[in-house]
Amino acid sequence: MPDKNELLKQIPHVDRVLQCEVVSDCEVYRHEVTEAVRDVLAELRDGIKAGTADFIPGLEEIARSAVKLATYKGNINKGVRRVINGTGVVLHSNLGRACLSKAAAESVVEAASSYCTLEYDTLKGERGNRTGSVEQYLSDITGCSASLVVNNNAAAVLLILSSIANDGNVLVSRGELVEIGGGFRVPDIMAQCGCELREVGTTNKTRLSDYESAIDSNTKAILKVHSSNFKIVGFTESVSIKELASLGKKHKIPVIEDIGSGALVDVQRYGLKDEPLAKESLRDGADIVSFSGDKLLGGLQCGIILGCEEYISRMKKHPLYRAFRVDKISIAALSATLRVYKDPRLAERVIPVLSMLSISADDLKQRAEKLCDEIIKQGGAAEVVSTKSVAGGGSVPGLELDSYAVALICKESTDKVEGELRNMPTSIIGRIENDRLLLDVRTIFEEDFEYIISSVAALTKTK
Ligand SMILES: *Cc1c(COP(=O)(O)O)cnc(C)c1O
Repeated sequence: MPDKNELLKQIPHVDRVLQCEVVSDCEVYRHEVTEAVRDVLAELRDGIKAGTADFIPGLEEIARSAVKLATYKGNINKGVRRVINGTGVVLHSNLGRACLSKAAAESVVEAASSYCTLEYDTLKGERGNRTGSVEQYLSDITGCSASLVVNNNAAAVLLILSSIANDGNVLVSRGELVEIGGGFRVPDIMAQCGCELREVGTTNKTRLSDYESAIDSNTKAILKVHSSNFKIVGFTESVSIKELASLGKKHKIPVIEDIGSGALVDVQRYGLKDEPLAKESLRDGADIVSFSGDKLLGGLQCGIILGCEEYISRMKKHPLYRAFRVDKISIAALSATLRVYKDPRLAERVIPVLSMLSISADDLKQRAEKLCDEIIKQGGAAEVVSTKSVAGGGSVPGLELDSYAVALICKESTDKVEGELRNMPTSIIGRIENDRLLLDVRTIFEEDFEYIISSVAALTKTK
């Protein structure tokens, strides 16, 4: 056993490690590698003192450990970073809901890193309309006569009620007084907008006559809210937007519908029943429709409001609009996303949310088999199982879509492997079901297969 004090003296100086080629070649910031070198050397020092280390590794080896540590820490410290979603929840609120299409992501990079035509008309050489292209696309896709975009759907509802129904009362069915994702509560929003909430009907049944008898001279709007994240089953009754629209017309009261998810293509084909389409809501007579940009629309976080010229221009003049308006990055992503919707087949191919929802169970099975075979070829252990994925993001509660997953056969505890995959440089997030760790292929991009194969094979090796 070498003398501890002798070994301690042999620990290299930080600067010497920093001169190694691995350090100068690595892509981590210098200050972060320096810190990592100090950490590695400190650990070595502690090890020697405790008697758990009895030699000094070579400079190169120390440098390599430091670069590895710095890379890992740098990745974690980046803040929001990419993960691989094996949960099968397509719109996973904790994992950022919708992923942008490649084209939309490119538009974002372009708008973010350069000057851009945000409010500039290059043909005329003068100031242009900030959201002109978005509004044109929305009108083409939904038939709306006017529209505007704000930061999210919560802001959209706040702006609508503040500009249309302030100081008045608003009718809402008791079955629609919802709370959605992290504190969007209809009664609180009402109070914030200076509206008196007038509850009509009961939790499970609300009829047209309930609305009609609640109307008085100070009723400024009728609001219908999609019950996005729960389902009332059994004996239920609610009033359609069509019926509400004719009631609204009769009494000259605007009818607002918060449809939540904002599907722009017919998602019923994917099994998502009961999801209102923006176009249909307008066609059925809603005066104002609002929805999120990053749920079934498959774009970025924003709130979209459609309606007639009169109401939309009132909203655009409201001070809250200036506070809620979206930035150049959002506008770039939204235009690029909406652009493909004119061709629904194309939208289904290129918008990840739609392609994940529309893929058939047979195709998913094939994909799962491909992933599983490769894991086994690399010495890992796994099998294909059928499972259920969900749309998530507060759309279609209770609905499950047939899917396939790769179930990892873990030597040790499932929890341990789950944790190790989660803590990979690019986290792989799976789902534990009946003590099995599943990677649902519906929400995994095929370009991530290679990374998953090598990571999983190493963790599930049988030998
Ligand atoms: C999701 C949802 C909201 C909130 O939308 P954000 O874009 O997250 O602000 C509001 N209303 C309904 C019905 C929803 O489903």
